Amino acid sequence: MAEKYAYIARCRKCNGIVMATVDNPRHREVVAETVAEYIGNDYFIERVVSTSVIKEFENTCMCEVEERE
Ligand SMILES: [Zn+2]
Repeated sequence: MAEKYAYIARCRKCNGIVMATVDNPRHREVVAETVAEYIGNDYFIERVVSTSVIKEFENTCMCEVEERE
């Protein structure tokens, strides 16, 4: 079985994950648009094997939560 990839966007302040999207070739345009949007918002984009995303998601960005308080 081929490995699947995903893009994740990381917060530059805390290195936590703010977004993850599967790199699905059938939805290449949507994926490219999403990634471009996050790059435009100054997030750090990484391409990873999608199974590792599940582990990484324990490490989500908490900055926005803190800012709301
Ligand atoms: Zn953060």
